[in-house]
Amino acid sequence: MAKPRSTLVVGNWKMHGRLKGNAALLQAIAEGARALPQDVRVGVCVPCPYLPQAEALLGGSPVAWGAQDVSAHEQGAYTGEVAAAMVAEFGATYAIVGHSERRAYHLESPELVATKAHRALTAGLIPIVCVGETLEEREAGATQDVVCAQLDAVLARLSADEAARIVVAYEPVWAIGTGKSASSAQAQEVHGFLRARLAAKGAQVADVPLLYGGSVKPDNAAELFRQPDIDGGLIGGASLKEADFLAICAAAAAAVADPAA
Ligand code: PEP
Repeated sequence: MAKPRSTLVVGNWKMHGRLKGNAALLQAIAEGARALPQDVRVGVCVPCPYLPQAEALLGGSPVAWGAQDVSAHEQGAYTGEVAAAMVAEFGATYAIVGHSERRAYHLESPELVATKAHRALTAGLIPIVCVGETLEEREAGATQDVVCAQLDAVLARLSADEAARIVVAYEPVWAIGTGKSASSAQAQEVHGFLRARLAAKGAQVADVPLLYGGSVKPDNAAELFRQPDIDGGLIGGASLKEADFLAICAAAAAAVADPAA
C-alpha cells in the first residue's frame, strides 16, 4: 500500500505540566513547527485545564491541540467528567480515547472507548483511538486478537464516513514509558494488520493515519516513521522536552522526504 504523503506527530503530556513551564514548551514547539514542511502535522494533547493556554499560545501556529480523554456522555450529572463539546470550545482538534492507562486504571471497555470516539466526532474533534497489547498478551501470541477486538469495537460503532475521520495509535503497553520501543519490524507487522482491518470497513477508511506510540525518541523515530504503514507517532515522555519533541518532528520530515533511506 502506498505511503500516505503526510505524517502526524502528536504529544501526549499525560498528567504533567504547570502554567509557566507549559508556556515555554508550547512557544518553543510553535516556533519549531514553523520550520517543518507542510506534510508534517503536529499536535499536543494537554491536560484539560491547559486547553485555554494551548489555544492562546498555539492559535495561528501550525500546531494543533487536544485533550487526552472525553466523557462518553454528552452532558449531565457526571461529576469530574469533561464533555467532548467542552474540549471543542477551546479550538481543539484532537481527543485521545482508549489510552492504555485509561483502559487499565479506569477499566474502560472497548465499547466505552467506542462511545467516546463517537462523542468526539460528534463534537467535531478527531479521536485518536489507542490500541495495544500487554506483554503477557504478546507472549501468548494474542497481539492481533487484542488489537483487533479494540479496533473492531470502534469500527462497529461508527459509520464508514465517521471511521474515515479517526486516527488510530498502536501503542504496545509494554513499550509505553519503558524506554523499550517495539522494533520497526514489530510495529510495522501490527500496523499492516490494522490497515487491513480498516480497509475492510471501506475504501475511505483504509488511509486513516496509523500512529505508533511507545518510547519513541529522536534516535528511533525516523526508522519507525519510514515503515510503510506507520504514519507518525504518539509521543509521551519525549513530548515534554522541546528539543526531543522537535527532533522527532524533524525525523518525521526526513522520513516523508525520503521514505526509502
Ligand atoms: C503514551 O503514553 O502515549 C506514550 C507513547 O508514552 P511514551 O512515549 O513515554 O512511551
